[in-house]
Amino acid sequence: MKDLIRIFLEGIIKNVNRILFASDRVTDMDIRSRIMEGRVTPTNKVAEVPCIGCGGCCNACPTEAIDMVDLDEPVEMMKGLVKTQIPVLNSEKCVNCYYCHDFCPLYALFGKAGTIHPNDVGEVVSDISLLLEEPVKISDDKIAFIAQYLSDSTVLKKRKTRDR
Ligand code: SF4
Ligand code: SF4
Repeated sequence: MKDLIRIFLEGIIKNVNRILFASDRVTDMDIRSRIMEGRVTPTNKVAEVPCIGCGGCCNACPTEAIDMVDLDEPVEMMKGLVKTQIPVLNSEKCVNCYYCHDFCPLYALFGKAGTIHPNDVGEVVSDISLLLEEPVKISDDKIAFIAQYLSDSTVLKKRKTRDR
């Protein structure tokens, strides 16, 4: 409740509507009901090895519960893709809205469990480089739906502004 009040105070009422009424959600509702009914055991918040470090989760989090932190050494995930940061989730700020998971490209584009989640949402693909070489598996409508949020300033954080 404390977190929801903070969201109201921050003027992000649109997000509360989404959180409370499940409007506009992308994450599969079966996954959500399994979590709410306690039929899954929470695992690590971030699957550090397969995460590609894109920062999408950090951008999408409405409560700034996710920070991107530098890795000691960059990791080449595949040709042309080097990971330099990974997300760290602060559970105390998390309101379980699942935007981080919804906007993780591994879920959003390929329909696989995202590599960040406030609770367990399924088995994370271990060899992400193979997955990234597959064609995107979602419809044009869903891409348009996600793109709409990627330009929605009430949802996405302006990381450059915040990091100044
Ligand atoms: S579920 Fe994810 S996006 Fe939502 S508040 Fe928690 S960390 Fe942020
Ligand atoms: S958890 Fe997903 S959205 Fe977040 S940095 Fe990793 S790959 Fe990107």
